Amino acid sequence: MNYHQYHPIDVVNGPGTRCTLFVSGCIHQCRGCYNQATWSLHSGHLFTQQLEDQIIADLNDERIKRRGLSLSGGDPLHPANLEAVLKLVQRVRAECPDKDIWLWSGYLLSELSQEQQQIVNLVDVLIDGKFEKDLADPELEWRGSANQIIHRFKL
Ligand code: SF4
Repeated sequence: MNYHQYHPIDVVNGPGTRCTLFVSGCIHQCRGCYNQATWSLHSGHLFTQQLEDQIIADLNDERIKRRGLSLSGGDPLHPANLEAVLKLVQRVRAECPDKDIWLWSGYLLSELSQEQQQIVNLVDVLIDGKFEKDLADPELEWRGSANQIIHRFKL
């Protein structure tokens, strides 16, 4: 998997102070996408074991308390990202038990494959659906357009 950006301290993408990872790769081609540079799976940088370890360490860093991890992109549920994202969320669940996981995807919850669902089963919140420019509203919290749904599974 490749990623575009990792923010070890982020107060914009989800509630509280968080770690946020923007992965590479998205097939949805939403009109008005603000992040077209992430569409290619080959864009960005290689997501290494070292960065995975760093995210776990940052989540558990008591000096700056993080509420959880945000996964966005690109699309964390792009088929090519599933193996790496599953490993990461499994580690967060096992090694950072008091942290929440928020995940943004262009796929709908109702259309997920078994492999995608395996990841969603481990997250607290899924914001699903493509960005629809005609339904865009800057007043919306945690989503760009009104069609997207915030599914709160554990919060
Ligand atoms: S799902 Fe997100 S990253 Fe992908 S095209 Fe749509 S707005 Fe852009």
